Amino acid sequence: MQDSVMKAWWESSHMAGGNAAYVEELYEAYLQNPQDVDPQWREIFDQLPSVAGVEIESNHSEIREQFKKLAALGLRARMPVASQAAPADAKQVRVLQLINAYRFRGHQHANLDPLGLWKQERVRDLELTHHELSEQDFDAVFSVGSYAIGKDSLPLGELYKSLNRTYCGSVGAEYMHITDTEQKRWIQQRFESVQAKPSFDRETKIKILKGLVAADGMEKYLGAKFPGAKRFSLEGGDALVPMLKALITHAGTNGAKEVVIGMAHRGRLNVLINVLGKNPSVLFDEFAGKHDDSLGAGDVKYHAGYSSDFATPGGNVHLALAFNPSHLEIVNPVVMGSVRARLDRRNCRDGSSVLPITIHGDSAIAGQGVVQETFNMSQTRGFSVGGTVRIVVNNQVGFTTSRQDDTRSTQYCTDIAKMVQAPIFHVNSDDPEAVVFVTQLALDYRNKFKRDVVIDLVCYRRHGHNEADEPNATQPLMYQKIKKHPVPREIYAEQLRAEGIIESHDVEKLVNDYRAALDHGACVVEEWRPMSEQSVDWSPYLKQEWTVPYSHDISVDKLQQLGEAMCRAPEGFKLQSRVAKVYEERSKMIAGEKPLDWGCAETLAYALIVDNGSRIRFTGQDAGRGTFFHRHAALHNQKDASTYMPLQHIRDGQGPIEIYDSVLSEEAVLAFEYGYATAEPGALTIWEAQFGDFANGAQVVIDQFLSSGEVKWGRLCGLTMLLPHGYEGQGPEHSSARLERFLQLCADHNMQVCIPSTPAQVFNMIRRQMVRPMRRPLIVMSPKSLLRHTLAVSSLEELAEGKFHNAIGEVDALDPKQVKRVVMCSGKVYYDLLEQRRKNEQTDVAIIRIEQLYPFPHDDIQDVLKDYQHVKDWVWCQEEPQNQGAWYCMQHNFWASIPETGKLTYAGRAASASPAVGYISVHNAQQKALVEDALTVK
Ligand code: AMP
Repeated sequence: MQDSVMKAWWESSHMAGGNAAYVEELYEAYLQNPQDVDPQWREIFDQLPSVAGVEIESNHSEIREQFKKLAALGLRARMPVASQAAPADAKQVRVLQLINAYRFRGHQHANLDPLGLWKQERVRDLELTHHELSEQDFDAVFSVGSYAIGKDSLPLGELYKSLNRTYCGSVGAEYMHITDTEQKRWIQQRFESVQAKPSFDRETKIKILKGLVAADGMEKYLGAKFPGAKRFSLEGGDALVPMLKALITHAGTNGAKEVVIGMAHRGRLNVLINVLGKNPSVLFDEFAGKHDDSLGAGDVKYHAGYSSDFATPGGNVHLALAFNPSHLEIVNPVVMGSVRARLDRRNCRDGSSVLPITIHGDSAIAGQGVVQETFNMSQTRGFSVGGTVRIVVNNQVGFTTSRQDDTRSTQYCTDIAKMVQAPIFHVNSDDPEAVVFVTQLALDYRNKFKRDVVIDLVCYRRHGHNEADEPNATQPLMYQKIKKHPVPREIYAEQLRAEGIIESHDVEKLVNDYRAALDHGACVVEEWRPMSEQSVDWSPYLKQEWTVPYSHDISVDKLQQLGEAMCRAPEGFKLQSRVAKVYEERSKMIAGEKPLDWGCAETLAYALIVDNGSRIRFTGQDAGRGTFFHRHAALHNQKDASTYMPLQHIRDGQGPIEIYDSVLSEEAVLAFEYGYATAEPGALTIWEAQFGDFANGAQVVIDQFLSSGEVKWGRLCGLTMLLPHGYEGQGPEHSSARLERFLQLCADHNMQVCIPSTPAQVFNMIRRQMVRPMRRPLIVMSPKSLLRHTLAVSSLEELAEGKFHNAIGEVDALDPKQVKRVVMCSGKVYYDLLEQRRKNEQTDVAIIRIEQLYPFPHDDIQDVLKDYQHVKDWVWCQEEPQNQGAWYCMQHNFWASIPETGKLTYAGRAASASPAVGYISVHNAQQKALVEDALTVK
């Protein structure tokens, strides 16, 4: 028999397509453990001669090569002559191929669309004839190989039925793209052993029904009470409510302590009321126009977040629904960042204690690039959260676009998830038991393998995009069908009635009880619990102004002690020669032998913060080394490429510090750090751009979250953004961090925009961001050439002063009475002005620096300008073109700072459509002219 099997295997062109993959997979499993494959295959593989160079860890392509080599070695020649028994044994191989075909492509014939509108393509691999089998073989018994049905062999008829039930029912499982055999086997075991249909007990079934009653009841209630009001109804996707409740319950039962959820507007009100337990009366008040005055500008109700606790058999789980702007999918990295902060706080690295759930739209998950960024981040050191459970509420309509060839180029909206080999479970939302089944399976997969998993909840949208929208205008056939389609509650209630689990009057009672509970206005979630003592106390940070006093207490001795620690590397750790030089110089600075440069002062700030026990999280493009080779917080051993971070070894019991060179993305990374900082006020969270204008790629995060999150949602965020900025002649893309954009977003003291010009200033600015009990974003125009400028240095004593100066007065010993002109500026241009004035030996022009442009430090500026009240000639000097930089946004503040008799003029580049010129000669000429202009007394 073995001979004929082998021949059949050879002749049925296994080396191509799905068969090749299947044989490779079997062979891979065999290489790892021969006992893992069926005896038949083991016998075949045992016979194969070994080919040098193929190790146990062989990947698929190597295995394919192995088979090719074996062919070349004349395996065919060694094949035994066909025996008389060939047909039956050949069929056995074909049966195994059939099983494999269902595992690969069964989802394409699954019953996924509740509306039955999908036109499924014919998949020949799923047909018996394709495998040269027929119904006449139904009674013949075949081995089922690894098909995890709990039996070694089955009659073909039974197997065929089972394959259809398992792979072509209400769940379409896509997982054969996963290369890891253990993961695949695990999914097969879980999926095939119950034929994708669990047997839930009565209690679970009633719970599912109650979820559907609540989902439907909520929408109907709102529709009747507030007709025409926008609520972005969940109807059609009702299964989301029992699904989320099952997911949270299962998570809590398996040890999760917190769940953070991100979702867009569709169905959000329903989830708020029916899952998080928001009080319905509060929502009704919001519909009626009442609002919370303490929240400033506020936001529409379908963007609101919420926090509560939820009882599960494993204990209460804290739930946090993240606040969300309209910009689709951007909340996902925010959720991941928030989860990472909570995991860090719990000292949990494997993700087991906090679960992220992100809820996507079908068009958005395929359309928005930030989704790809989050998948890419999902397994990286700096951004992993132990896997995210991603649910797609797939209502098959992207606003008005329902044609698949208008919304995506892939069969499924979820194909993007394959980039990280995430398993994808498509499920018909009209089968809520299947939904709950895959939900539990998905969570178990996430918990076991610490990887992302996707559930594609295929549903529909009962109304238009919002309740005032007319969907028939754009989707006539779909909406004719929807109109006649029973609601999910009715379908499931009918099922339970048929199963004898409930009577009609039970359903009526559930519906009436739910409506009565809403009338009563009380919480409708049985599992809801009041929030237990919060793990983070935000109260010290609430309502704090930027002027709140903070301790300036630091000593030079302490700085030197920290400095020595931060310059230490382990014995024998070989630094690259330029890095070694940086560290030698740093040691001299710490010893007081020379003034401190930028890198030394900045690193000292981090050392001080961790020495105080606080956490630092620092990510960005080149964050460890520093784009301009100035930081070198992470050292690389030239002998063995090992790394060492001196800041992690300041003292025993210090605060943790993590510095990660980030994935090459801005949008998702900045959103992640925003999420982290909004969940952890006790940490200094920093994101650094390689060049400042790369933050453009994250503009939605800056607009929708950083600058407005506090006034919209009352959520504080102490994130620091380091954005290299300065006109050095490097062209349009590397000069400007687009200061004007940040200044334009400034109001309500929502964030701070600083341009520190000395090492002492950067040291004290970073320290202030941590020790002052105010948590608002700090936007820093950080330097490039100033990192090594001979004048941009500070003494240890200046650092030890402990105070960030919002404005710095004239540094040369000018006689104020002789001053005829005062130049105000920020950033690097200060040094150009100073050097030129010294060269000119001018004594009639004073130069003052504004180091914090927002909130504008009126008092500090008055202080540095007090000696120049007689001056009439005032200038704002900037490097940026006139339509950019600070001039347009801050002019009113400059005017308010000068004496009433003074006149303010502008010295800088002419307005320009581009941030900077591309030619160095033009740049130099412009720079020279603007400095001269600023210093020329009129
Ligand atoms: P959470 O853990 O996100 O559910 O938050 C629990 C509670 O902490 C919230 O209800 C808020 O009262 C408070 N809180 C959480 N994050 C912030 C924040 N970024 N700013 C201010 N308060 C917050």
